[in-house]
Amino acid sequence: MFDKVLVANRGEIAARIVAVLRARGIRSVAVYSEADADAPHVRGADEAMCVGPPPVAQSYLDQGAILEAATRTGAQAVHPGYGLLSENAGFARRCAGAGLTFVGPSPEAIDAMGDKAQARATAAAHGVPVVPGSDGPIEDADAASLAEHLGYPVLVKAAGGGGGIGMQVVPRPEKLAKAVASCRDRGRSSFGNDAIYLEKYIERPRHIEVQILFDHHGHGVHLFERECTLQRRHQKVIEEAPSPFVARTPGLRAGLTEAALSAARAIGYRNAGTVEFIVDPTGRFYFIEMNTRLQVEHPVTEAITGVDLIGWQLDIAAGAALSLRQEDLRVSGHAIECRICAEDPDLKFIPRPGPVGRFEPPTLPGVRVDAGIAAHQQVTPYYDSLVAKLIAHGADRAAATERARAGLDAFVIETLVTNRAFVRGVLDAPDFIAADFDTGWLERFAKGR
Ligand code: ADP
Repeated sequence: MFDKVLVANRGEIAARIVAVLRARGIRSVAVYSEADADAPHVRGADEAMCVGPPPVAQSYLDQGAILEAATRTGAQAVHPGYGLLSENAGFARRCAGAGLTFVGPSPEAIDAMGDKAQARATAAAHGVPVVPGSDGPIEDADAASLAEHLGYPVLVKAAGGGGGIGMQVVPRPEKLAKAVASCRDRGRSSFGNDAIYLEKYIERPRHIEVQILFDHHGHGVHLFERECTLQRRHQKVIEEAPSPFVARTPGLRAGLTEAALSAARAIGYRNAGTVEFIVDPTGRFYFIEMNTRLQVEHPVTEAITGVDLIGWQLDIAAGAALSLRQEDLRVSGHAIECRICAEDPDLKFIPRPGPVGRFEPPTLPGVRVDAGIAAHQQVTPYYDSLVAKLIAHGADRAAATERARAGLDAFVIETLVTNRAFVRGVLDAPDFIAADFDTGWLERFAKGR
């Protein structure tokens, strides 16, 4: 096992990784920008190094500065968290070149799934159902006939896309050319890749994903599914495990988990990963992408399985064999995660950086809070607006919901404007209680308030 690991991230996930390292007796090195000198991930780490000014391009994405911090502090491995450099195959290669272990899959696996058009083709070639769509990237001239063939509405997607960026629903033929052009522009400016592809737009779907874990010896397991249907602008807000829809649809879990394991095996995957699907109202499911990293919502899986995912990421990266066996894994109860963001639900959810006064996460049974800020700090405008995740675990969905409600109510967050009351409102909505929703539900709920 490693003696010292550098955490190449910030916010709640970096603080969490630092805590896991501490619990395992591994020394941690935090990196931080000038805006984060006093952040929880820095306070909790054994050592910390400033890697540049606030903008991510000059700090958390500065590969040279991060690699230098790792070498200077004598770290043996780099945990990239999620976002930032976590799905950057070039960075994974540079880590290896500098003699550092990248805690994640191989650069080849990152590349194989990083281009979403290529990932679709790989999945389809291995028998994993994909959304009907184009075979790989398309030319402008072919878009109209392809869309006609698929049938409207269609979705134009950027091959390099992520985080819900670079995706457009096209309801009618007249709107296609403009969507294609703007999707290309968006892909070029946000991801440096103007390749686009088409998918049939599945109406009223649910987003259900499968967590997998593979070691370097070809042994892998799935850790059941998460339901992440409650999204705004294709960004998840409330996630849960297991999926209530899977629970009431015979055969769906077996189909999803088998498909996820096939997709992972197809690319010789190792470490933790997530295979994402959309599922139509009849229970038919389609692969949409694979995330070759830890997910924001991984704690709901940890809650229902008792498996420490970050711990396993470290063990696997260090070469250990995965001792978990599929037949030993069980779903225990139900877990719900609420993302608390510094944003204003009354102003179209615009980010609201600002000073934090009292900040006191609840200490209640079955409630875990992963926070990226602390009392009397500042939420700055430079980063993602996620400030904390509240994860509630109970014997069943109703009990987990009740604990999430109690946790949100008891959470003291002063001065900062957040979406907490909005999320709390969702937990009381009859459709939420009945688990009767699709990926457009949260947007409709937000508008109808
Ligand atoms: P990103 O990489 O930007 O997160 P994804 O391909 O994972 O994009 O899609 C994000 C979300 O968009 C999904 O969770 C789902 O809500 C919606 N979505 C994606 N593809 C389709 C589709 N073909 N039909 C309907 N909704 C879709």
